[in-house]
Amino acid sequence: MEKIDEIMEIANYCLNCKTKPCQNGCPLGNNIPEFIKCVKEDKLEEAFNVLQETTVLSSICGRICPHSKQCEGNCVRGIKGKPVDIGLLESFVGDANKDKNINLKENLVSNKKVAIIGGGPSGLTAAAFLARSGCNVTIYEKEEKLGGILNYGIPDFRLDKKVINNTIEKIVDLGINVKNGYILGENLNLENLKKEYDAIYLAFGANNSCFMDVEGKDLENVYGANELLKYNEHPDYSGKDVAIIGGGNVAIDIARTVKRLNAKSVNIIYRREEKQMPAEPKEINDAKNEGVNFIHKANLVKIIGNNRVEKIELIKTELVKKEGETREYPVNIENSNYQINMDYVIMAIGSKINKKLAIENGLELNEKGYVKVDENYNTNIEGVFAGGDLIGGKCTVAWASKAGREAAKSIIKYLQF
Ligand code: SF4
Repeated sequence: MEKIDEIMEIANYCLNCKTKPCQNGCPLGNNIPEFIKCVKEDKLEEAFNVLQETTVLSSICGRICPHSKQCEGNCVRGIKGKPVDIGLLESFVGDANKDKNINLKENLVSNKKVAIIGGGPSGLTAAAFLARSGCNVTIYEKEEKLGGILNYGIPDFRLDKKVINNTIEKIVDLGINVKNGYILGENLNLENLKKEYDAIYLAFGANNSCFMDVEGKDLENVYGANELLKYNEHPDYSGKDVAIIGGGNVAIDIARTVKRLNAKSVNIIYRREEKQMPAEPKEINDAKNEGVNFIHKANLVKIIGNNRVEKIELIKTELVKKEGETREYPVNIENSNYQINMDYVIMAIGSKINKKLAIENGLELNEKGYVKVDENYNTNIEGVFAGGDLIGGKCTVAWASKAGREAAKSIIKYLQF
């Protein structure tokens, strides 16, 4: 079947529900029924314009969002059968309009300068929405390329670099200045930036892997997934057994990457059952098909070895509901410990921000250790806003992008006073 026939078939499967549950499930609130209606009518530019109202990352989010937990998880068609493949339709519309410029919006604030620290999904989205409203925007990025996790975290087999580059180019073409090689706390200072800019948006993410506090965590060959995925620089896994701790998309991404690098076995260790894994079912299935092993209901107790990893000790878990709660929690089963030979352990249990940097710059943190903001993304410092993974919450590209867009709206209001 031709791609366009397949797309039309998927679009026509959509019921154009009046209540728009899919839109409610989308972190960005994309008007999904409306853009699908345009696709049905073969009006792809109009479909793109509908999406542009809420997002500048269609080609990316259409490919990598955890759709089954967002839009598609809320699709009415999914109640009795398969949901509409909204992700595929969104990326199709984004790709079909890849040569079209992003529309400018109303010029609300001209002659105002905004600095954005961090050019990942949140910073890029904020930059786009600010520039579309007339702001003079400069992104300060520490890496050679913009994109944050898109270029330094998500492997090529999941997201083609051409798609990322095209998306970034279109955003930068809105007239955004980009300064690479700038690191807050090193060659960039918040106090000085405040003198030069009317507002600042902090979006430098949470890039440091969290490590389980277990015996042996400091042994050689224990790594953090974020650090390995960042520059795609890895030790030699050939013929080795590798344990990945965690159940999210980062765990799956690193597992599939390590598998491609000739490891003898790649083993994802997760405390709960498969259905509770935060990773997308599609990604889990792809990993299984590629030969990744899954060890469910097991918790890492210690890492054993002389200098470097030789074994890991796991304990079996059972899932228990706390009184009055529907959610099940993993509880270790006493005396169910067992050991397996392992050469590498990779932690993929989440990431944290550079707290020291935040505190040194006078930023208040919340109780979870992220930068504290109010409902309008204001930090405790006047004129300084923050969003994306830096403020915690649901750390997906779409949620980070939403924070960027909403922070941009708050910044515009702030600048209008
Ligand atoms: Fe279409 Fe599903 Fe959204 Fe209904 S819920 S409008 S069927 S995508």
